[in-house]
Amino acid sequence: MKYVSLANNELSTSFKQAVIQGLAPDKSLYYPSYIPQWNASFIEEIPNLSNLEIALEAMRPFVDQDLSLSDLELILSDVLSFDFPLQKVGDYYSLELFHGPTLAFKDVGAGFMARCLGRFIQDEKEQKATVLVATSGDTGGAVANGFLGVEGIDVVILYPSGKVSPIQEKQLTTLGQNITALEVKGTFDDCQSMVKKAFVDADITSKVKLTSANSINVARWIPQMLYYIFAYKTLKNKGIQDDPVFAVPSGNFGNICAGMLAHKMGLPVSHFIACNNVNDTVVDFMNTGVYRAKDTVATISNAMDVGNPSNFVRILELFNKQKKELEVDFTACSYSDAETKVAMQEIYEQFNYVADPHGAVAYLGLKAYTAQNPTTAGVFLETAHPSKFIDVVESTLDIEVALPENVRHLMNREKQSIFTSNYEDLKSFLLQ
Ligand SMILES: *Cc1c(COP(=O)(O)O)cnc(C)c1O
Repeated sequence: MKYVSLANNELSTSFKQAVIQGLAPDKSLYYPSYIPQWNASFIEEIPNLSNLEIALEAMRPFVDQDLSLSDLELILSDVLSFDFPLQKVGDYYSLELFHGPTLAFKDVGAGFMARCLGRFIQDEKEQKATVLVATSGDTGGAVANGFLGVEGIDVVILYPSGKVSPIQEKQLTTLGQNITALEVKGTFDDCQSMVKKAFVDADITSKVKLTSANSINVARWIPQMLYYIFAYKTLKNKGIQDDPVFAVPSGNFGNICAGMLAHKMGLPVSHFIACNNVNDTVVDFMNTGVYRAKDTVATISNAMDVGNPSNFVRILELFNKQKKELEVDFTACSYSDAETKVAMQEIYEQFNYVADPHGAVAYLGLKAYTAQNPTTAGVFLETAHPSKFIDVVESTLDIEVALPENVRHLMNREKQSIFTSNYEDLKSFLLQ
């Protein structure tokens, strides 16, 4: 498999180089040079295969030149070491993607990318690389955890002081080893613009090899397709005949785009619903045919506060840039914070299930779509454990949310962060 720039398909490179570079040299996204097709016999066998067997078959064509089957197997068995259960919630299923080490779905993509990058940097005999990343909460934890202990790579994470939840902060600041957290006096946008500035600052880039762990990296994006195949497997094993309808809480549209890639490779799916908070750039596009990036609006489902979703161009590419084709498989919708809170209360009161704000937005999208298109296979993705958004969940539902066993120990660990007031602080830290 080669990867090509979406703006110029003459610019092509290997999986290894696409992972190391992140973006193509013309600053557009890399995209697979062809969409592999699964055999009908693989699709038929899915219910009988282990998650690891499925993942190997699914991922193999995307990495074939640069990872041997046994290396791929080692990496995948590491990053898929937890469950992806479907919980019945009323007439629907919640696909719980929060059983990994940082309690959010980003663990699989970040872990896969970290292991690939660690290996590629080593065999390139590159100097040590520094992964520099800004986070509003979830990305940083998943990236830090994925890269923890990976040889040859230092990770520097910028996060806005006082603006991430307590558990998110512990996940960023207590790991030690090759992970450093910079606590920024400012907003997420401030963190983001400092990172962007560092990447083009020759004083830094001449001395330090900077890499991003951005969600546009193909090694973070593609493995997310596995969730949809695992959900399909579980539905079939429950005896459900309908093909799934997936409602996906979407911010940068990487997760849903990976599901749509799996569908294009042959996975039977009836429909995809992109569920947004009030950051509704894609909803507007679907209504008007005109794509216009917007300023980001802060919401309670803040991992989806994205006004210019980078992966949407990949979705368009999957459908030959034809909105008419896209509409057959894809719907987008948008909900306010008030509607999201009402949904959280409804899910709790009617079904005794605690959803986080992101999952609740997806529930709303699924409910609206299935009112018109009934199905027995409605699945909404629950992308984070409710304890990651504990303030909103506890105040909306008037309950206490317990931390899952696998992260409880973090709360007793001591936070270690370096206060960073401005760009000069970041620069001197990177150059020290
Ligand atoms: C990142 C994130 C999302 C959005 O995923 P995209 O792939 O960016 O669309 C949704 N929910 C949670 C909890 C997240 O952390």
